[in-house]
Amino acid sequence: MKEKLKKLIAYYNPYRFLFFSDMFFAIIGALVTLALPLIVRYITNNVIYYEGSKLSQTIFSLGVIMVILVVVEFGCNYYIAYFGHIMGAKMEADMRSDIFGHYQKLTFAFYDNQKVGHLLSRITSDLFDISELLHHGPEDVLISVIKIIGSFIILMMINMKLTLIAFAFIPAMVVFAVYYNKKMKSAFSQNRAKIADINSQIEDSLSGIRVVKSFANESEELRKFNKGNGRFVEAKKKSYLYMGMYNSGLNALTTLVTVVVLVAGAQFLTTGQVVVSDLITFLLYINNFTEPVKKLVNSAEQFQNGYTGFERFLEILSIAPDIKDAEDAVAVRELKGDIIFDDVSFCYEENQDKVLNHVNLNVDAGSYMALVGPSGAGKTTLCSLIPRFYEVSSGKILIDGMDIRSIRLDDLRNNIGIVQQDVYLFAGTIMDNIRYGKPEASDEEVVLAAKNANAHEFIVAFPEGYDTDIGQRGVKLSGGQKQRLSIARVFLKNPPILIFDEATSALDNESEQVVQQSLESLAKNRTTFVIAHRLSTIRNAEKILVLTDEGIAEEGTHEELLHAHGIYEGLYQMQFS
Ligand code: ADP
Ligand code: MG
Repeated sequence: MKEKLKKLIAYYNPYRFLFFSDMFFAIIGALVTLALPLIVRYITNNVIYYEGSKLSQTIFSLGVIMVILVVVEFGCNYYIAYFGHIMGAKMEADMRSDIFGHYQKLTFAFYDNQKVGHLLSRITSDLFDISELLHHGPEDVLISVIKIIGSFIILMMINMKLTLIAFAFIPAMVVFAVYYNKKMKSAFSQNRAKIADINSQIEDSLSGIRVVKSFANESEELRKFNKGNGRFVEAKKKSYLYMGMYNSGLNALTTLVTVVVLVAGAQFLTTGQVVVSDLITFLLYINNFTEPVKKLVNSAEQFQNGYTGFERFLEILSIAPDIKDAEDAVAVRELKGDIIFDDVSFCYEENQDKVLNHVNLNVDAGSYMALVGPSGAGKTTLCSLIPRFYEVSSGKILIDGMDIRSIRLDDLRNNIGIVQQDVYLFAGTIMDNIRYGKPEASDEEVVLAAKNANAHEFIVAFPEGYDTDIGQRGVKLSGGQKQRLSIARVFLKNPPILIFDEATSALDNESEQVVQQSLESLAKNRTTFVIAHRLSTIRNAEKILVLTDEGIAEEGTHEELLHAHGIYEGLYQMQFS
């Protein structure tokens, strides 16, 4: 708890000035609020008995003082509301940036076990809870405590008995407020959960709108959606029930305090224990201690929510990325591309079956190597070890004689280009998407890369050419076009090592040929791993590896493997007979 609180407080650090000025104005504002009724009391007690010009002059100057105080109170409240929120917004942004930055560092192994929706809510709803706490927490507590204690002292000095009667209601208010505030907040968080459900349902259904329509399942989708929508209304009903109880109940209690003070005060008037002006002052003070009680209860609840949110936030931040630069990692600008797998074994999770078992491989720089084998044999896995998406469980991978774990991670990955079956295009234009391969590239370089990837022609055929917005996930492009954009991206990056993972598998024959051409021209003079299930595309590979569950079963050129009459020949016969 202490450590975590320290971390929470650390977020205030850059905004110390804002924080302390906020606190300062909170104190001034609270004191002014407490002072105003005292002046009213002074007027009703003394001034009205003055005579002639003294009366009007004193009333006038007291009026001026009160106006000044009201202006000061306004200024303080305004400062707190404006700059306090700005501080909170900045702190929230700092936290959001920290967690987003951390997300960027976490590894594939982390994302394999996470739903993006949940990671998103860590950033949105949790931080919302925290920022509520950060904005208002400290100043609300300070103002409330000053007001309650201040009005207690002042009222005690005016009339002890009446004060004790009035303050006797506070425990009841606290109990009531705590009970319903808890209920209300938990109902609100239920609401948020229901909204999150609805949102993810919308996202899922709209992302898959093509599937929905192809199965003519629109009304089924709506039926499912309305279920969630109905649950949302039920959840809201509950929260309004508690909110209604909370607000009206506390209002009633406050009014009750007023009534009791008035009745008891009237009694005291008849016995001379209190004067009218004091009774008026009492009534003016009631809000100064009932409001803060509500606020304190609310702050306590806010602290609980915000703090749990903060704990979840810290939980994510405390997950150390398990793949990162070694202390003495070397910077390597350009690798040549000799790759050696030295007795590499790998499993995704400890105590699980090994996906790769003692793999040995020797790939010369610039050579074109193909990986074939049944689905699930571990081809993708093998290739994902080279850029260290996952870490080898035992053995080592060497590039140009260096263990890849000794090379700076950014440098290693900058030297490897990957073309996959699924192309991910970011929101933006075609130009933006190709430039992703090298953010500092000039327009000319981008166009050259597109030309090399056989993409230039179809790009300029669009009315807006390179500035065509490709829409979310590139729906306006065909599979072959998207693939050529992803190849252009790698052309621009210009790495010495390439991995093509079923890059043409999702394409029709015609696009496959165009894309295959682009891939082959990209592969020139680079170390290339090609995973393909269409054997026609790898016939001229310098070496073909046949990977099975047992490891590398066969190795050789197309001709050699055919003559060996083994697994490869079987696969080949299946596809071409
Ligand atoms: P291939 O590319 O040859 O079809 P993969 O390398 O994708 O095979 O998968 C090899 C094995 O590893 C499969 O049994 C698969 O279920 C498993 N596997 C793949 N990716 C993961 C992952 N992220 N986490 C756990 N197991 C995985
Ligand atoms: Mg695969």
